Amino acid sequence: MAEKPRVGFIGLGIMGSPMAMNILKAGYPLTVWNRTASKGEPLRKAGASWAESPAEVARNSDVVITIVSDTPDVEEVILGPRGVIHGAHSGMVAIDMSTISPHATRRIAEKLAEANVEMLDAPVSGGDVGAQQGTLSIMVGGKEEVFQHCLPILQAMGKRITLVGPNGAGQFTKLVNQIIVVGNTLAMSEGLVFAAKAGLDLEKVLEAVSAGAAGSWMLSNRGPQIIHGDFRPGFMVKLQQKDVKLVLDAAREMGVSLPGTAIIHQLYHAVESRGLDEEGNHALVKALEWLAGVEARQE
Ligand code: NAP
Repeated sequence: MAEKPRVGFIGLGIMGSPMAMNILKAGYPLTVWNRTASKGEPLRKAGASWAESPAEVARNSDVVITIVSDTPDVEEVILGPRGVIHGAHSGMVAIDMSTISPHATRRIAEKLAEANVEMLDAPVSGGDVGAQQGTLSIMVGGKEEVFQHCLPILQAMGKRITLVGPNGAGQFTKLVNQIIVVGNTLAMSEGLVFAAKAGLDLEKVLEAVSAGAAGSWMLSNRGPQIIHGDFRPGFMVKLQQKDVKLVLDAAREMGVSLPGTAIIHQLYHAVESRGLDEEGNHALVKALEWLAGVEARQE
């Protein structure tokens, strides 16, 4: 049997840590790096090697995965002075699983191609829960043969893995995903605030509506958290806003009007301006609660 490729992993946040753990569990030799070194401890204990820089990760890997916060962060860990590109070797593949600008993704892919490194943009959906359970939805942009080569590694982290087109197409698809996610979040928030004002039993409301046409991932996973006052982040408000801004920038460039998404961007502003930008994205409900003068909570 052919030896498994050596995998490198950069960015051990809410998403990256469990994703890297799933790669290790699938039996791949793994080298990791994170800006804050302490977050690498559980992976080191589980058998991963630690590198001192993204470039060192690349030197020790056949496939390097990145999942960091935003576009400039991906540029830094891939193209920066200590970046992946400086340790890359011909035939290595870089897979960026962060959610970033589709146009910047294409520029990064071009720079890597100059160093004979192929790239896939492979942003994910499914939240912290999907990352832990290895059930993420992964939207991939890149070449078919590179996709096929990396598919077993992606399968260690996700369930629905779709090659949607060339570089950049994965990120554009993720932005489609985010338009729908924030729309669902607003719909859930308005529904719960309305239910609270009507004096309904919120547990019963969730039970009744989540199995019908109003059901959604957001309602099933975040609805119970809202009514129990649990705003710990699976996905932080500040990252959600980063994605909504990516959506609105791309929409403006293409001449597409997204009035619903624009309103949600403004509502999240209200949440951010009260210092709640590190709460989970379901804290959107708080903006609606302030408008209605009621809280959708239940013991
Ligand atoms: P997170 O917990 O805040 O983790 C961010 C990671 O990026 C950390 O490891 C952080 O390092 C690293 N980082 C940020 N800027 C960096 C820089 N300039 N140089 C080096 N490392 C840097 O965020 P997350 O929720 O895991 O999200 C990561 C990406 O996944 C984002 O693009 C997000 O949009 C996307 N995503 C998240 C979810 C979700 O539900 N959470 C779902 C789908 C997609 P430190 O540890 O040193 O801070």
